[in-house]
Amino acid sequence: MHNKWKFDFKPSFDLAIPGEDLAHDPEVAGVMDICRDLHILDRTLVSDDYDKALDYLGNILPMKVHAVKSGAEVFTWKVPKKWVVNEAYIKDADGKTIADFFLHPLYLSSYSIPFRGDLDKQELLKHVVTNPDRPAAIPYHYHYYKEDWSFCLPYNVVKGLGEGPYNVVVDTRFESGEMKVGEWVVPGQSRESILLSAHLCHPGQVNDGLAGVALGLMLMKWLASSPASHFTYRLITHPENIGSLCYFYKNRHLIPDFKGAVFLEMLGNRNHLKIQYSRQGNTVIDQLMELAVAHNEKPYGVGAFRKVICNDEININGPGINIPCISLTRWPYPEYHTSDDSPDIISMGMIKESLDTCKRFINMLETNWYPARKYTGNLFLSKYGLYEDLNKDDAIEQILLAFEGDKSVLEISQDLDLSFDRVAKYARRFYEKGLVDLNYSPIYREREGSCPEPSKNRLNRQGVIDLDMEDS
Ligand SMILES: [Zn+2]
Repeated sequence: MHNKWKFDFKPSFDLAIPGEDLAHDPEVAGVMDICRDLHILDRTLVSDDYDKALDYLGNILPMKVHAVKSGAEVFTWKVPKKWVVNEAYIKDADGKTIADFFLHPLYLSSYSIPFRGDLDKQELLKHVVTNPDRPAAIPYHYHYYKEDWSFCLPYNVVKGLGEGPYNVVVDTRFESGEMKVGEWVVPGQSRESILLSAHLCHPGQVNDGLAGVALGLMLMKWLASSPASHFTYRLITHPENIGSLCYFYKNRHLIPDFKGAVFLEMLGNRNHLKIQYSRQGNTVIDQLMELAVAHNEKPYGVGAFRKVICNDEININGPGINIPCISLTRWPYPEYHTSDDSPDIISMGMIKESLDTCKRFINMLETNWYPARKYTGNLFLSKYGLYEDLNKDDAIEQILLAFEGDKSVLEISQDLDLSFDRVAKYARRFYEKGLVDLNYSPIYREREGSCPEPSKNRLNRQGVIDLDMEDS
């Protein structure tokens, strides 16, 4: 379908995309405030700073917190202990500081075990992580599941190190804590739910994780202040990977309610939008997000499941849960996994475009009705103020034939090669004239019947109609 704007995803930067100053936009300003305020916290899996960030977000819009204790088995995983850093630094022989956790949390690899000692350069370098591609920045590293310690240093610092000795202190401890997932809910008229997800971990970084959380929160505020929706919307924020598993572990009863999910990831850097398709690949969620992105009339990338950016879709859309989950992202960006991933790289224009695209996606979901006619035979268009010159454009005739209740606005727009918006607009006009019902699931119509009965059918996970009625 669409078009000249679409390209196959290949990792590349496009730094020519201009930024914009949109500080006057309250939602954009809201995202920027969150990014600045929570940027430097040591937001790792189970930690006081992670909890602090969650508390801060709960003050913006009230949330539920789902907590799972350290040591608990969550499906095949085990919740780690809380990691506490008393102090951690490297000093040279003159007492000059080479690295200090309290200057930037990335200096110490997350979950480093305790160590104290004086090391020469060669010994020290066995415990130093650096990134020559980004020589002035501190890289990001962690030891979640292998006991070890290390410091992360800018390559320029490593190059300048003398023979030592170096005084190394890693004063950390592990204690029982709780892994926490924050959840915001905006209830709709239906239990059928749409999941938004973004991770809050990644110490001292912004675009990776935090920007998606901030953007999701602004979407929830917008939904909460909008007229009642049909679908229920849930945003969860959590430590990456194991965090979303904790959510599903504690909320297994909700899994059948989810119609689809969107992972919000890296949406503030200057690069094109990309969609990573769901595992199913062609669900209503995939298609509507692609329409929403294409509407921007800018180049956008698409890629298969797990081939663009890897996050919690492996859980959300994974074995035993399998909610179709797309990701919306601007990956890649050169500051990734370094201390350069700071509020400075977040473009307000990119945030605004990401927000608008998500709102448009939600508006399309909400208007992807199955219009079901209440008229019989041809429609007296003039009587209802619907007359259009059929010699110029016969779209309305095609439309009045298509509103049988068995196809969605999206499907009709594809069948008739009309825009989604145009079909949705006709559906709304017909509804306002009392000519159609607007359902959210397809109906089955008896051949002679003139009075459509809403059926219990609903879209299943593949976006395919479950035919749970008998053929007549
Ligand atoms: Zn990351």
